[in-house]
Amino acid sequence: MNKLSIKDLDLRGKRVLIRVDFNVPLKDGVVEDETRIRGALPTINYAMEQGGRVLLASHLGRPKGERAEKYSLRPVAGHLSLLLGQPVAFAEDCIGPDVKAKVDALKDGDVLLLENLRFHPEEEKNDETFAKELAALCDVYVNDAFGAAHRAHASTAGITKYVGQAAAGLLMEKELEYLGRVIKDPAHPFVAILGGAKVSDKIAVINALIDRRVDKLLIGGAMAYTFFKAQGFTVGKSLVEDDKMPTALEIIERAKAAGVELLLPTDHQVVDSFDPLQSKKTIPIEFTNAGLVGLDIGAETVDLFSRALADAKTVIWNGPMGVFEEKALGFDQGTVGVARAVAEAADRGATVIVGGGDSVAAVNDAGVAERITHISTGGGATLEFLAGDELPGVAALNDK
Ligand code: AMP
Repeated sequence: MNKLSIKDLDLRGKRVLIRVDFNVPLKDGVVEDETRIRGALPTINYAMEQGGRVLLASHLGRPKGERAEKYSLRPVAGHLSLLLGQPVAFAEDCIGPDVKAKVDALKDGDVLLLENLRFHPEEEKNDETFAKELAALCDVYVNDAFGAAHRAHASTAGITKYVGQAAAGLLMEKELEYLGRVIKDPAHPFVAILGGAKVSDKIAVINALIDRRVDKLLIGGAMAYTFFKAQGFTVGKSLVEDDKMPTALEIIERAKAAGVELLLPTDHQVVDSFDPLQSKKTIPIEFTNAGLVGLDIGAETVDLFSRALADAKTVIWNGPMGVFEEKALGFDQGTVGVARAVAEAADRGATVIVGGGDSVAAVNDAGVAERITHISTGGGATLEFLAGDELPGVAALNDK
């Protein structure tokens, strides 16, 4: 990596502002999933050990530029303090005289969490004055929020112009290293598994993967129905992006021309749209009639996808194979099946990278997270990076 690393900085006695991704799910003021907080611990611990005075800044949810209690980061301060085993101070805002006073009171090794950046509309507008105010709080800046690096916001891009040094945190470095290797020099066979609701979100990444000589492209989730309908199959009431059918056909042609094996589901779990609770069954794709809705891939497809991974040396996976949230109805089976299959590929020595909230949740649900080579904390950022785009939050950091 040619970007400055936190390891290149002298942190002792310095005010170190770390942009973290603490955009965690909260319920009644309790952190429901601490994965993102844990992800930032190596960088926070490193900065503390080096004698830095640590300021943490993050967004949480979409408060649309207004203060809203349910998007307050206060519960995260308590949770982080348990994980760090030391108190974490909290500032009621992220800029202003009160914050400044709290920062001035910090001693070497102390940690202060700032309130949600997005309570200020200037954050998402990458406003210069706001960026300067954030920058004035610190001596050095570290970006460890890979999941927010695809956005040019004040705390990810603007701020870097007004700080002495802007470096990548340890999590950011790890993401760039793993994903960078997939882009530059993947070991073959290289297999990509994509799912989720929309083809439109994934066109750029599919094209980039074909250009980068992915060997197999496995497509599941609602996305697959746009490919089926474009080829003349009946998909019933399954989710389709009609306007993306020509794109789907182009992708099929591009894959063929490049020698990329494109695999679509052969069977799926469907319900009758009039009686969704009682009518669940698994049928071959070609048996789909007008009244049916496809909500997950079937067991035969899980098997097909698993076999496609048999000799894989590099695997990337983003997006669920079905309506994964409907666990009670069993529409998580396809996604959990794929989670097990990618873990087995990792056991056989493949480099396996899983990204995107639902796929990561599936890997956790299936109890295979430990076996995955790299679980990416980014959703959109991971896709944009794999598509070959330069992420503004990375580009803004100082070169080594
Ligand atoms: P994305 O944000 O594009 O990764 O899509 C994730 C969403 O896709 C999840 O909320 C899933 O419920 C949804 N999804 C996956 N498969 C299907 C399907 N067959 N029908 C409807 N929604 C689906």
